[in-house]
Amino acid sequence: MTVAPFSFRLLHTDQTSAARRGVFSTPHGDVQMPAFMPVATQASVKGLEIEQVRACGAEMVLGNTYHLALRPGEEVVAALGGLHRFMGWTGPILTDSGGFQLFSLAHRIEVTEEQAVFRSHIDGRLVALSPERAVAIQELLGSDVAMVLDHVVGLPNDAETIRDATERTVRWARRCQDAAKRADQTLFAIVQGGLDAELRVACARQLREMDFAGYAIGGLSVGEEPAEMLRMLEATVPELPADRPRYLMGVGRPEDLVEAVARGIDLFDCVMPTRNGRNAMAFTDAGTLRLRNAQYERDERPLEEGCPCPACRRSRGYLRHLFMANEMLGPILLSIDNLTYYQRLLADARQAIEADRFAEFRREKLAGWAKKPMS
Ligand SMILES: [Zn+2]
Repeated sequence: MTVAPFSFRLLHTDQTSAARRGVFSTPHGDVQMPAFMPVATQASVKGLEIEQVRACGAEMVLGNTYHLALRPGEEVVAALGGLHRFMGWTGPILTDSGGFQLFSLAHRIEVTEEQAVFRSHIDGRLVALSPERAVAIQELLGSDVAMVLDHVVGLPNDAETIRDATERTVRWARRCQDAAKRADQTLFAIVQGGLDAELRVACARQLREMDFAGYAIGGLSVGEEPAEMLRMLEATVPELPADRPRYLMGVGRPEDLVEAVARGIDLFDCVMPTRNGRNAMAFTDAGTLRLRNAQYERDERPLEEGCPCPACRRSRGYLRHLFMANEMLGPILLSIDNLTYYQRLLADARQAIEADRFAEFRREKLAGWAKKPMS
């Protein structure tokens, strides 16, 4: 159990894998886990009205501290009622701390023990982000779950750089914990450690002793082989407390989600369903469809038989036409279909866990996706 008004209830562990069925409660409602969070980078899931995101089946969304602090600024969001009211989402929200964006977007970043200083990718101005500042921004945004500021480094990298960043991540986690004041917001820690299993284990153990409400695994899915990521999960997850949610940040493809759930992960976020949707790629149980391909020109079938989303009330041929004609409805409909696909996948995963048949579910799904792998 975690501090009220937050709690994680573990309902069932699958008998055929390490997959878990749980419920995470927040002041803005419950999240059935394992769960997938659509990414609302700039307080918007790109192209979609927030009610459409809800209709896809999402219960919790993710906002980006880095982006929102630079534009419009956390003070503006706070003046407009906080992130929930600002974007019109009444359910739980998780904000990431900016650690990943510092590494992926910011220019000329300099990390010292005190803080990260970087140039904004928007206007080049100099910005400082310390653990205390990351917490203060997230408290003004008013998300339900805030993330600690972590020091993310690219992979591959030399062992000394990775060790140094991982140790700093632990120290910064402590500073975030000391800085956090809001009773209606909780804080998740982030395990780093590159592709070094020993370092990940050491990091997880230290963070576990600090007693966070949830634990994330970060710094993965940054170009390493999927097998390497799974090896890191197998090393790290057993070190995390069983009574707290486990969040794999920024992952990923449907097969990554299923493999991670099988190893005990409860929560995910990724831009892939919306980003790929905008690029005419649809996820289905039979693999990925690239709608610009000529083979779909006269295809009368829906993207996925039985999908309840509005895109699947149209033919593949019509959806292809929208992309070829550069109609904005194409990216919108495919984003909806992909988000619906991810939410249905996690809902089916929860059922399979409850029925102690997750291993079989995993085999079925992987066999289907292997027919048309993502290229
Ligand atoms: Zn659909």
